[in-house]
Amino acid sequence: MENKIKAHNSILELVGNTPLVRLNRISEGFTGNFFAKVESFNPGHSSKDRIAMHIIEEAERKGILTEGSTIIETTSGNTGFSIAMVSIIKGYKCILAVSSKSSKDKIDMLRTMGAIVYVCPAHVSADDPRSYYEVAKRLHKETSGSIYINQYFNELNMEAHYKSTGPEIWEQTGGQITHLVACSGTGGTISGTAKYLKEQNPNVKVIGVDAFGSILKKYHETREFDSNEIYPYRIEGLGKNLIPGATDFDVIDKFIKVTDSESAHTAREIAKTEGIFAGYTSGAVTQALKQLNEQGEFGPKDNVVVIFPDHGSRYMSKVYSDQWMEDQGFFDTNTVSETQKVQYIKE
Ligand code: PMP
Repeated sequence: MENKIKAHNSILELVGNTPLVRLNRISEGFTGNFFAKVESFNPGHSSKDRIAMHIIEEAERKGILTEGSTIIETTSGNTGFSIAMVSIIKGYKCILAVSSKSSKDKIDMLRTMGAIVYVCPAHVSADDPRSYYEVAKRLHKETSGSIYINQYFNELNMEAHYKSTGPEIWEQTGGQITHLVACSGTGGTISGTAKYLKEQNPNVKVIGVDAFGSILKKYHETREFDSNEIYPYRIEGLGKNLIPGATDFDVIDKFIKVTDSESAHTAREIAKTEGIFAGYTSGAVTQALKQLNEQGEFGPKDNVVVIFPDHGSRYMSKVYSDQWMEDQGFFDTNTVSETQKVQYIKE
């Protein structure tokens, strides 16, 4: 009998092919056309599904991973979730070494997705045997047939975006893209996507978004590692205090920095104006658009693509909590009125 069932064989078939959505209201008054690649449409709700799939499938092709093998990474964030998801479907053990700074919610989320989680003390140096880097390395050594994803130094991270995000954006814009603006953490997303786009059209301009407190912008400009640039900041997932091997700085034309506070307010504004519930770095990249527009970066016919890396639900106790915003000092007398108060009906 003919098979009429239109189902996907597993959730993994839904990785990639995320929508490109025109920004209408948040970019009102800007010069140019603006579009967001909404990566929360991936089944693991972030762009990291792409690298988890690609790195794991490459290891399978090379015969490194076989049934029951172990996959190890050091992250409590989006990458950990994506690796856990892929591991469940493909039958691998997933071990994640995370910092004791990670919230209980994040650890519970990873455990729910089948990961074995090691919580390691946050306040020890990176080369201490108890640090999450060293714990992951030790487990990798001790577990034969295991792979260590090591996203900051794995070239396959960049390749995942070169093979998927880049071609998707080129096709979705009919080759009319003029600018790519994206956050840089490991740098895999921006450099892999940029490399593909520039191969199609070398005039595509690529702008990386960095945080105040991170070394990326200065390193791009001078190729010098300046530790004076480093100080704590709030946005998770963009910027870095080391030079990530997964970044190709040559395909990025320039970097722009954004603040924690403005990025947080802009993330909230995206929800209210575009109806897209996105993560903190989506706020950061849109904040960068505001600054670039003000600097006269875009022309009236330009087609600017930004990447929204993940979903807002991961930030309920942060950017989307009024208490957290207040605790950070992000509300001032001008902005506090933006939040709606909940109305309680008496019992
Ligand atoms: N936004 C978020 C929320 C992330 O988790 C990351 C990854 N660290 C990025 C942006 C940056 O992506 P990439 O690592 O590919 O540079």
